[in-house]
This record gives sequence, structure tokens and C-alpha cells, in this order.
Amino acid sequence: MTSAAAASVVSDATPEAWALRDVAARLGDPDTGGRYLRWVERARGCSHPVRLRGASRDADVVTGEVVSEFTSDTEPDGVILKPCGNRRANVCPACSEVYQGDAWQLVATGLRGGKGVPETVVEHPLVFATFTAPSFGPVHTSREVAGRQLPCRPRSRGETCPHGRSLACNKRHADDDPCLGEAICSDCFDYQRAALWNHNAGRLFKRTRTYVERELARAAGLTQKAARKLVRVSYVKVAEFQRRGVVHFHSVWRLDGVNPDSELVPPPVEFDAQLLADAITAALGKASVPAERPDAPPYAWGAQHETRALDLVHQAEEAGRIAAYIAKHATKASEQAGGVSHKIEHEDELAGLRCRDHAKRLITGAWRAGADELVDGTRIRRWAHQLGYGGHCFTKSRRYSNTFKALRAARVDHAAHQADSAAEAAAKSDHNLVRISAWTYAGREYPRTGDELLAISTHARKREHRRVAREELQVTGQTRKEMERWTRVD
Ligand SMILES: [Zn+2]
Ligand SMILES: [Zn+2]
Ligand SMILES: [Zn+2]
Repeated sequence: MTSAAAASVVSDATPEAWALRDVAARLGDPDTGGRYLRWVERARGCSHPVRLRGASRDADVVTGEVVSEFTSDTEPDGVILKPCGNRRANVCPACSEVYQGDAWQLVATGLRGGKGVPETVVEHPLVFATFTAPSFGPVHTSREVAGRQLPCRPRSRGETCPHGRSLACNKRHADDDPCLGEAICSDCFDYQRAALWNHNAGRLFKRTRTYVERELARAAGLTQKAARKLVRVSYVKVAEFQRRGVVHFHSVWRLDGVNPDSELVPPPVEFDAQLLADAITAALGKASVPAERPDAPPYAWGAQHETRALDLVHQAEEAGRIAAYIAKHATKASEQAGGVSHKIEHEDELAGLRCRDHAKRLITGAWRAGADELVDGTRIRRWAHQLGYGGHCFTKSRRYSNTFKALRAARVDHAAHQADSAAEAAAKSDHNLVRISAWTYAGREYPRTGDELLAISTHARKREHRRVAREELQVTGQTRKEMERWTRVD
């Protein structure tokens, strides 16, 4: 064969054909071929797995004898693949799905029990609350009243802004209209203040929690100290970007009684869900975070909010819906607001950002705000690509329910019980054993294209089998409509 003919053979082969050749070579390896499929499965369909080298040994604590051993030495390429664990759907779909499932569990168990949380929590006072940011300038929006769509910003008297631009927009914007959330006048919209608000939003939420406790005590006619001996407030929240690029929070609040055995018990009867809802509403109006500049107004919540006492005893299905909605947003970052997914390192990157103009102005606003010596410049610039918001999307107070760590540990345990051999499984059930693990980082990504292709397609097939379980994660009808309208408020 001439070299020209050989080159054409290579270029004719599809990437899939090359990947299949990888897989065939892996399976045909006399030393590791038999372990290859299991090796691939351990990556659980992750897009960017970590390669680890090392071993894990179970030893008898009494005799010191190693009862079983798992080492990467006998695995393909002498490594094992560990899922990256990234929570962001645009970075790793498979791992973000696991995170989303865990987030769902954490919210749902705090509402109705399970996984170690008593089922009686469903009888505790529970409130669903949504908080939004104030206005930073008029934006295009879509509004609906009784199923009828209203014009964006009807203005009968032809008002104009200080820059001479019309403040009216009579369009009925479609849901996917890219102008939704964009400023009516980009000179009127205070991008820097909006970015600073995002920067302070987590702190504002924390302050609000303190005020909720204060308001609860007041409503019950007690001092805060006395109230703290009777009730505890716990919550779970998710931050979501509105189209105008500022975050808003959906949260679930629960009241627990105080029990010396630290078990979850209901609070005294006078602390009911309505009392909690009223305390949250009162706290919303009072909580604020002082601005960095003494001459600027403090950061506070906007006028649009909702506080709703839940009755999950009579509407059990509501728990799953709320959990689904919160979990869905737990894995989404600022891409929702049209930002960029990478950190900004230098000011000169700002001009060339490939995202919508509104997001670019917010990112620039965050970056510029970082130049003020009164602002935590390192932090706001680190999160400029997230429009200034540096908090986690999904957070909960300690007592609300389980932790991600506990759910992960349960999964590892489960995997360990599906051990390679029956002998190993028997050994693991022995209480006299101690596990010693030592793993070191050996790189990132799949060693070969074929490994990646097989890992992702195998995982996709398994996912299909688990579809029934995932359906719990679908947010349906009314709840979705009810909650998604918040992304459009201005
Ligand atoms: Zn991953
Ligand atoms: Zn409009
Ligand atoms: Zn203007």
C-alpha cells in the first residue's frame, strides 16, 4: 500500500470505528480484559473522571491480617476511574444528575421524612417562601393574568427615561424571546448595583433567618432567649437567576421543637405554620445588609415575594413537587442568565466575552465594583462570571435533613456490598475489619476514546432502566408554572 492510500484509510475511519478498536483491544488484553467492563462502569458515565492509583485493604483489627485487597495494579492502565462529582449540568451531565437526585432527597426527606429523618416532620409547621431582588431599572418582561398574556410595559402617557428613551413596550413577548430580562434603557439599569446585590444576596438571606427567629419570638410574646429554648428554624434554599441576571431564592422553612435528645420533634402547638409564614413576611421587610459605601442604601429584598404555609398532611404530593423544583435548579449556575461558564482572570477579557450584552454588562459591573477598596474585590471578581453571585446554588441549614456527605457514604457502602466476590462481601460484613485506603491522583479524563464512548453509552442504557425513578424529578404542570414565573419578574 502506498503512503497516500494508507492516509486515506485512516481518514475514512470514523471516530466511532477507532473507539471500537480501542474497546476490542481493551477486552482482548490477557491481563486486564476480564476486568475492563467493570472498570468502565465505575466511572458511572462521568464526562471527566479522575484517574487514581493505589489500593484499599481490609485488615482484621485483632490479627492484623489483610483479609481482602483491591488494588489498581491489576486494573487497565494500573488506575481506577472515579466520577468527577461536578454538580453543573453543563460540565458533567451524569454527575450533575447524581447531585440533583441527592438534592431531591435532601429536600423531600426534610418535608416528609425518610433516610433517617422521622416521618412526623410532615406535621411540623412548613412554609414555602420566594424572595426576589428589588428593581435595578426597567426590563422587558412577560406577564400573564388568568392565562392571558399582557403587553410588556404599556405606558399611555409616552413617558421617557432621563436619557430620552421611551419607557413603553407594547409587545407580548414569547417565552423564548431573547429580549426578556434586557434593560429597557441600558443607561438606566444599574448593572454595578445589581452585581453587588448578587454579591450580598447570601448574606441577606442569613440576616433574614435571624429576623425570622426574632419575629417568631415577638409573635409568640417571648424573648428571643426564651423562644430559642422552645423552637428551632431550619430551611433549605435554592438560588436561581432571573432573566434580568439577579438571583432570587425559593426556600422551604420548617419549625422544630427543642428536644434534649436532639431528635426531631414538633414545636409547641402555638407555633403553627401561619405564625411561621407571618414571621417570614415580617422578616423580609426588615432584613438588610449595609452597603459597602456609607452613602449607598443597604441591600434589601424587592417588593415581590410569596410566603405560603404548607399542609403536606393533606397534600402529600406537594412535597415531591417542591423537592423536584428545588433540585432541578440546584445544578444550574449563571448559564440560565446567559453568562459565561469560566472565571474571568483579566480585565481585558471583558470586551470579548461571548454572551448576551446584558450579562456582559453585569459581569463588567461585578468586575468594576471589585476596584472599590470597600468591596471584597477578590471575591466579587472571582464570581464575576456568575454576575457577582458567589454562593452555592443549593444550601440548607444543618438540621433540615441529611447531608450530601451522608447520601454519598450510603452509596459507597451500597457499592461495597455489591463487591467483586462473595468472599469479599462476607469479609466486609465482619465487624472486626478495618479498611485502609491509599489513593493518589494519576490524571484526568479517560485514557482512551473507546473507554469514554463505552462508559457514557453503558451509563445511558442504565439510566433508561432507572427512568421510573427519575420521573419523580420531573416538575409538572401547575407547580412549574407557578414557580417559573419568578424568573420573569422585574
Ligand atoms: Zn463527572
Ligand atoms: Zn418588552
Ligand atoms: Zn435611560
